[in-house]
Amino acid sequence: MNFARLTLSLALCASSLAYAQSPGASNGPDSAPATPSQSAFLAEHPGTGFFTNDGGITRVYGAAFSNGATPMESAESFLQSWAPIFGAQFGDLLAIGQYEDGHCLQPLMVDEETGMEKFTLVSYSQFVKGVPVFRSSVRCLVRNEAGFPLVLVSNELKDLGDFVTAFSGKVLPPSRLDMKRATRYALNEFRAAPTVSAQEMVIWAGYEEVNAATPVLAVKFIAEGGNVFDEASRQKFLFVVDAASGRILFQENMILNADLTINTRGLGTENMVADACANEVSMALPYGKITYGATTVYANANGVAVAIIGANTAFTSTTSGRYFTMNNVPGAESSITTSSAGGVLDFMHNSANNVELTRSEVNAYIQANLVRDLTLSVSPSFPTISTQLNWPINVGVAGTCNAYYDGSSINFYASGGGCNNTGFGDVVHHEYGHHLVAVAGSGQGAYGEGMGDVMGVLMKDQPELGVGFQTCANGIRNANNTCQYSSTGCSSCGSEIHACGQLISGCVWSLRNTFAVQYPTTYRAKLAALAVNAMPLHTGTSIAGDITIDYLTLNDNNGNISDGTPDYSAINGAFTAHGLPGPAVELLGFSFPSGIPTLSNPNGSTTVTVNVSALSATPAAGTGKLYWRNATTGAFSVANMTQGAPNEYTATLPALACGTTLQFYFAANTTTGIAVTSPANAPTTVNNASVATGSSNTFVDTVETNLGWTLTTAGDTATTGLWVRADPVGTVNGSTQVQPELDVTTGTGVNCFFTGQGTAGGTLGAADVDGGYTTLTSPTMNATGSEARVSYYRWYSNSQGGAPNADTFRVQISNNNGTSWVALETVGPGGTEVDGGWIYKNLRIADFVTPTATMKLRFIADDAGTGSLIEAAVDEVRISVVECGAAEDLNGDGIVDAADVAILLNNWGGSGIGDIDGNGVVDAADVAALLNAWG
Ligand SMILES: [Zn+2]
Repeated sequence: MNFARLTLSLALCASSLAYAQSPGASNGPDSAPATPSQSAFLAEHPGTGFFTNDGGITRVYGAAFSNGATPMESAESFLQSWAPIFGAQFGDLLAIGQYEDGHCLQPLMVDEETGMEKFTLVSYSQFVKGVPVFRSSVRCLVRNEAGFPLVLVSNELKDLGDFVTAFSGKVLPPSRLDMKRATRYALNEFRAAPTVSAQEMVIWAGYEEVNAATPVLAVKFIAEGGNVFDEASRQKFLFVVDAASGRILFQENMILNADLTINTRGLGTENMVADACANEVSMALPYGKITYGATTVYANANGVAVAIIGANTAFTSTTSGRYFTMNNVPGAESSITTSSAGGVLDFMHNSANNVELTRSEVNAYIQANLVRDLTLSVSPSFPTISTQLNWPINVGVAGTCNAYYDGSSINFYASGGGCNNTGFGDVVHHEYGHHLVAVAGSGQGAYGEGMGDVMGVLMKDQPELGVGFQTCANGIRNANNTCQYSSTGCSSCGSEIHACGQLISGCVWSLRNTFAVQYPTTYRAKLAALAVNAMPLHTGTSIAGDITIDYLTLNDNNGNISDGTPDYSAINGAFTAHGLPGPAVELLGFSFPSGIPTLSNPNGSTTVTVNVSALSATPAAGTGKLYWRNATTGAFSVANMTQGAPNEYTATLPALACGTTLQFYFAANTTTGIAVTSPANAPTTVNNASVATGSSNTFVDTVETNLGWTLTTAGDTATTGLWVRADPVGTVNGSTQVQPELDVTTGTGVNCFFTGQGTAGGTLGAADVDGGYTTLTSPTMNATGSEARVSYYRWYSNSQGGAPNADTFRVQISNNNGTSWVALETVGPGGTEVDGGWIYKNLRIADFVTPTATMKLRFIADDAGTGSLIEAAVDEVRISVVECGAAEDLNGDGIVDAADVAILLNNWGGSGIGDIDGNGVVDAADVAALLNAWG
């Protein structure tokens, strides 16, 4: 083979060779600084230089040092004259390159401007009487321009000295080599007789670290087999051995990393449609599993695996892989076994393409891996998926016209019943989408169906889903739709979950169309990132506007979607097109450096600092307004706010009768004239302030001392768990605190009221309420004054133990010292406030009874009927009122004087401020009352 190649190469390249013999001897010693020929060359070619390595010249470079009519003429002109500078003879060179086909003219380095190569590399190999010198060459780089100037020579020629003369007559044809003798040392390195390639005679004159070796006739061959110590450990060496003695002159390992490349592929259906609707083409099986012996290797995403193997080995490939395990329900999974000793091994599943379920295996396996890859490409740590291995895919499941996800596998039906095999393209994406929805912690329903379809949209970048499920003419659902959200019927496309699911696929497709214009090369990844990463945010099964908020928040580039997001208009536009608008962008920001008051002085002296700033629009200076009204009467009035610096205002809250509630909100315009309010949805939501000069507590009990509560009332029926005031010993059932361990009071407080103190370490039910009810009653409390409110912390647990959620905790109020009672609240038997935990209540007394100076409060914990575990507790009881000062002190400054008269006169004939007697008009009677209170 090697000789044949040599002949061919000569035919290719030798035509223009001039076989002139170079003059002079060429045996100068390498170690000398410069041989006579080297000195002569440098003298004749100023501007050139030699690069030497280990004594030999490896490069000649610098100003062009030869020319010719062709690249080869230029190179040969140089070599004819100057081969001796390398210790070689021109006559020993043949124009044979160091490439597989031996070509000698190699274009290099495309010029970006012309598109043509700038250089030609002309290569020669060194021979002695037809025998190649092992790894010897000289390579001449010629510029492709007029005169073909030679600018660089790369030299690896051997200095053969007088070997050339001595070698005469020693040439043996390969057939006459004593191979047994020549290979005996080399073969000792193998346990059993290795496979030995064809042999080739070469001249050994050194290489690399044994560079300047004494030339000798040698034999080159490749041997491959088991290591001398371990047959399974495979080795492959290139040997150069002394032709006469067999002594190893040179040995090179031919195994570089892996020596077998395995391609796992299958004939799968194109375009992600049903097999009846497109052709099958060769596709990679990503992460495909290959087994040999006891070893398993997996292909990469492109279906390529590498194996390091011993002897000739049998390899098996199936349609299972690292992440998915294939199960052909009625049949056997496609499995191919082939032997290989190295090189490249190709597996092609479904190669005959005449068995439906084998085709379905290939399609389902490939599509499942592709949709998994897409998911992890945009969410590398997606729950479960990022670590899940060997997940089952079932094909050929009994039945027709369906596919399903069951929480632990995806399942596809064979053809029949008017449907094609369902193990294809976006049907696989859909079922895997259900898996993504499940592991993300979301419910399924319409959202699950919709997101299944969305995965198909993301994979195909096409809106029509399930093409070929029944017929190739159309799909079964379409993301290119006009489905609208419906709060009552799910969607305008129907309330059935698959139909309604098109709502979210429609939003995603609408967004895709906008993104495709904005981001022509990256829109698919941007879209997939939003759709996939929104899944773990989704709760429940419905499709609603909260998904729009999820997308906007994922898209945002700061901590506030209210000022817009980079793709706000694209995302909001896409979802709005389907009736799912996101929150409106806040055009202007409102801030209140001193807060928003909850008390407003009746005299109208309370002010609010309001600063307006730009968010997605710019505020127009001087446009700030205050809207206000009495909560119980009338429409909103409007007043301008006083501007200091531009867009920095002071709002003055109006004078209103003490004890009323003031409602108010703020507004300012953008420079484009849009009025913006704070709160944003005012007047639906407004600020509330009690109109008063202050507030005070008329009763405060931290329960740290005894203020006269009654712990048991005549008629109470409970036998245990009666109310006590103490530092409670908490009880816990599993992880649920049943009786509190800590009271509410901060600081040094430890006590509260609770139902029965057990002993530390006692049983759960030892001191809970049993046998009936127990009543805790307050002392008499004063609630006179305006806007009296009662507040307390309570604790209630009825959800643990036997007969849970069957009893109630009742809170009642009396305004006649306990003669009659009105229910304030009833906690339980169900709901969210019956599992223990301190809960704060603050109630307006007038909403229940008329506040008086003889108020009482009582708490009744009950274990009625079947015995249950009941614990209740109470702490921090207060009654508060607002303060109004004297009715005649119209400006609230603490004294009735001329300023109050001025206010009254200013509102003469009106109502509200100044109407001291409350008859609805400010008149002479009010003046009389004011003067009566003078000073
Ligand atoms: Zn589904």
